[in-house]
Amino acid sequence: MDRTAFGDIMKRFILCLITLSFLACSVIAIKAQDRVEQWRGKTVMVFTPHPDDDVFGCGGALAMLARNGNKIIVVIYTNDNKGSFDLEMTSERLARIRKAEQEAAMEVIGIPKENIIWMGYEDGELEYAEPKALCGQATKLIRKYRPDVLFSVDPGEWYERWHKSDHRMGGFNTADAIRAAEFHLYYPEHLLVDGLKPYKVPLMMFYYAASEANYWVDITDVVDLKIKAISKHVSQFEPSINKYRPDWDPKDLEKLVEYLKGRATKKDGKYVEAFRRATGFNPQ
Ligand SMILES: [Zn+2]
Repeated sequence: MDRTAFGDIMKRFILCLITLSFLACSVIAIKAQDRVEQWRGKTVMVFTPHPDDDVFGCGGALAMLARNGNKIIVVIYTNDNKGSFDLEMTSERLARIRKAEQEAAMEVIGIPKENIIWMGYEDGELEYAEPKALCGQATKLIRKYRPDVLFSVDPGEWYERWHKSDHRMGGFNTADAIRAAEFHLYYPEHLLVDGLKPYKVPLMMFYYAASEANYWVDITDVVDLKIKAISKHVSQFEPSINKYRPDWDPKDLEKLVEYLKGRATKKDGKYVEAFRRATGFNPQ
């Protein structure tokens, strides 16, 4: 091989290296931009079966998104008016209590109560709602708010599938509504009467995803805030769930915080929330 040929090969090799490193940098840049931690100015929609699953499932991510100036709309399917062992409790009173607790939890997270939408279905009875109307309600909200990202209970997880009917229905209904929102021929009255155009949700983050999780958000900075928000749901925990009281005995609160922190998901030494992230219905 003469020197000129060797020089040519070297030049091409260096050019190749430069191109490859440029491509690698672009991929890293796209990935970094895609991280929840980096999002700014986005519209985020959350669908939750009950007023507490949102904080349990993605309260850390929501706290981070609120802090970073994203607009968050929380849609709650049911009023959670059945889950109390207190024989003195009534459904009407419990619905009021749960609403106030949710507003307090959202305030901690940084979401104003004006951004909470209550569908108002009875606790445990979402599966008895008229399916077409239920899907239409969620579809209409998606078309109205046009979220950059939508958070929902993962309909595929075993616990949601088999043991918790509102979670099952809420998860499947939201997934069906995401699909319907894309096509103007589903619920055509949304366009014809309300002027709401079809909308394709570009990104979905399914929370309560365990076995199929493919994306983790580092919530270490906001884990205490998440736990504080959870603790606002006083009536969901002992002793208040057994005999209602609106506040915490400091010792009980301390125990709860310790319990929640001990059970919080950790990955590589960080507190995380696990999601099944999907664009369209193809897992990414
Ligand atoms: Zn729930």
